[in-house]
This record gives sequence, C-alpha cells and structure tokens, in this order.
Amino acid sequence: MKRVLITGVAGFLGSHLADRFIKEGYMVVGMDNLITGDLKNIEHLFKLKDFEFYHHDVSKYVAVHGTLDYILHFASPASPIDYLKIPIQTLKVSSLGTHNLLGLAKAKSSRILVASTSEVYGDPLVHPQNEDYWGNVNPIGPRGVYDEAKRFQEAITMAYHTYHGLETRIVRIFNTYGPRMRLNDGRALPAFIGQALRGEDLTVFGDGSQTRSFCYVDDLVEGIYRLLLSDYQYPVNIGNPDEISIRDFAEEIIKLTGTKQKIITKPLPKDDPKQRQPDITRAKKILNWEPKINRSEGLKMTFEYFKTLTKEELYNSAHRFA
Ligand code: NAD
Ligand code: UDP
Repeated sequence: MKRVLITGVAGFLGSHLADRFIKEGYMVVGMDNLITGDLKNIEHLFKLKDFEFYHHDVSKYVAVHGTLDYILHFASPASPIDYLKIPIQTLKVSSLGTHNLLGLAKAKSSRILVASTSEVYGDPLVHPQNEDYWGNVNPIGPRGVYDEAKRFQEAITMAYHTYHGLETRIVRIFNTYGPRMRLNDGRALPAFIGQALRGEDLTVFGDGSQTRSFCYVDDLVEGIYRLLLSDYQYPVNIGNPDEISIRDFAEEIIKLTGTKQKIITKPLPKDDPKQRQPDITRAKKILNWEPKINRSEGLKMTFEYFKTLTKEELYNSAHRFA
C-alpha cells in the first residue's frame, strides 16, 4: 500500500484530498496544527485504519515514522482575511514549512507536490494568466505575506529538484470552492452564502467589476491527482476558466439561495487583483485535464452543504486565532 502525507489535512482542500487518496487505496498520514482548519472536516477518517493524524505545526521540524511515497504540502492559510490576521505564520508555513517538507521528502525519497496559487501572478497585467507570466506582486502590501511566501515556495521547490534531483510538482491553484469551506473565512463564496442564510445583505467589495474564475473542488482534486502522478516538474495552473465579475457572482448567490436581501458595497481591499482567469492549455496538454462541473451545478452542491450547518456554526463569526 502506498503511503501519502497530506499537510493542511483538516482544511478545505486537504480534507478532500485525503478522501480521494483513501478512495484510491492509499494509506493517508494527515498533519495539521488546526490554525484555520477544523477536525470536523476529517472526523469521518479517524475510524479508518488507513488514516493517521499528527497534530503538528509544519513550520517546526517535521518527523514522520515509516516510508512515504508522496507528500502533498497544503498547509497554509488561504483566505485574505485569514492571512491578514496571521501574517507571520503565513510567511513561515510556505517558507520554513516548505523547507522542512522538502527535507523530509529528500530523507524519505518521496515525491512532493506543493500547493502554489494564482496569487503568484499578483494583480496580473497579462490576461488570462499562463504559467510563463512572472506576475505583478507588491512584496510589502498586505497580500505580500502570502504571495511572496508562495513564490519562495516555488523557488525552493525548483532548487531541490535541480540540486538534489528530488521529484517535485507545483500546482498553481485558482479560486476553488465547495463543501467544507469555513463559513467565516472571509472568502467571497462563504461570505455571500453565510450572509444569505443569516438574512444579511451581501457585501461586495469595490464596485464588484473585479473578476474571478471559480473551480469546483472535485475538478481541482482530479487535476492535482493527475499532476502528482505525471512526470512534469514545472508549475501547472489548475482552475476553471469560466470568469465572472464579483457583482454578478453575488447576484447568482442571491438567485440560488432565494434571499430577499440586496447587495451593499464596501471598500475594495488594497491590492485586490482586478481580473483573474487561468489559461489551462498546459494542464489540458500534459494532464489531459479540464474542469467538468459548471458553476450552477457546483454552487448547488455547495449550498446544500452550507444548509446543513447548525445555527451556532452559522452565527459564529470568530475563529480560534481571531
Ligand atoms: P484552509 O485554511 O481551509 O486549509 C489550510 C489548512 O492548513 C488548515 O487546516 C490549517 O489549520 C492548516 N495549517 C496552516 N498552517 C499550518 C502549519 N503551520 N502547520 C500545520 N498545518 C497548518 O485552506 P485551503 O483553501 O484548504 O487551502 C489549502 C492550500 O491550498 C493552501 O496552501 C492554499 O495556499 C492553497 N490554495 C487554495 C486555494 C483555494 O481556492 N482554496 C487557492 C490557491 C491556493
Ligand atoms: N469579496 C467581496 N465581498 C466579500 C468577500 C470578497 O466582494 O465579502 C471580493 C474580494 O474583494 C475579491 C473577490 O471577492 O475581489 C474574491 O475574494 P476572495 O477573498 O474569495 O479571494 P481572492 O481571490 O481575492 O484571494
């Protein structure tokens, strides 16, 4: 049986990856310090003999017993609101944390895949963004703690590949959504659905003309799975190119939820990217991958999940680090 370590396993993406690898017959070792994640996302895995959990901060030395065929490094706060509240931990997990995991991969001769992001393109001057674009990032702006740590992550990962011959994979993930997103993590989709369910107005930042391209989580997981098993070491964009303005997205959530509330505007956060759309030519060619789930289908499945949350979860606006 192959053994895979997934960091950030109690988070949104990590928990879905764990489910997929268990389904494929792997032994999954999950690691998380629960800073933005929740054990609820993986509680169904604890009863399985193919799953183990380490409660650990990967920015500190990482030790795992036994062999590891693969490592997937997904630990990192991912929402702008989260990483503004914990900027130093955010910088550390993608720099020191990545270094620790590359060291572990080298020691165990494992293949490692790191979770990078469309944020490496910053507020892009090229549209849509392909992997050859170097980006437009403000290193000292509020988002710099996330963007620059992820850029460092890519650099050190390539260096381990080049200098140590380590088998590495880099996925650049574009905005992804689905069940298990934290309702209060501040990202557009959980913010809008939470507001609709609580009977509050939906807060669009700026005039809402900024765009994003939202990918359903199952499509993303498929792309990551294929990339891990491929022999391609350069970055690959995984995302859904179906681009929409944030105002139109809020309108879609109003229709989906049937709320009587309206859109209100709030100031646009500093350095908020104006447009974002993945060019997925490379993923199509190398992985024979493209997204299959359209937004209306994906949003319905996501809404069904959020409707199952308890009143307490719906009204709890704080998180443990807040
Ligand atoms: P999330 O906040 O739901 O999950 C992150 C998990 O990592 C949490 O469980 C958290 O507790 C854990 N974690 C954070 N710091 C840690 C540390 N030092 N040690 C151990 N565990 C730690 O976020 P997510 O959306 O699941 O994102 C997962 C990864 O994917 C991140 O690396 C993120 O940068 C990347 N990503 C996500 C998206 C997206 O749209 N969801 C887009 C681009 C990139
Ligand atoms: N946004 C918004 N209202 C909210 C939360 C987010 O209008 O309550 C906007 C945000 O300014 C950005 C877009 O929605 O332009 C996507 O934000 P998110 O935090 O989901 O992810 P980002 O792509 O910015 O990392």
